[in-house]
Amino acid sequence: MRLNDRSLTCRICGSAFVLTAAEQELLLLRGVGTVPAHCPICQRSRQWQVSYQPSAISAEALMADG
Ligand SMILES: [Zn+2]
Repeated sequence: MRLNDRSLTCRICGSAFVLTAAEQELLLLRGVGTVPAHCPICQRSRQWQVSYQPSAISAEALMADG
């Protein structure tokens, strides 16, 4: 089966992002049946919030990340 790049819309920030064929293949290999609902940027900030206490992150620190 051939996979094509897919255009998705982030559910958090609403920006469009592309899930490449290679990324979809990876998800299939991992047995993940769903496509990500969030763009890479939001996924990263979500991981942040899981591993760090949100209250410990100042707005300044978040802006410095970019
Ligand atoms: Zn986003």
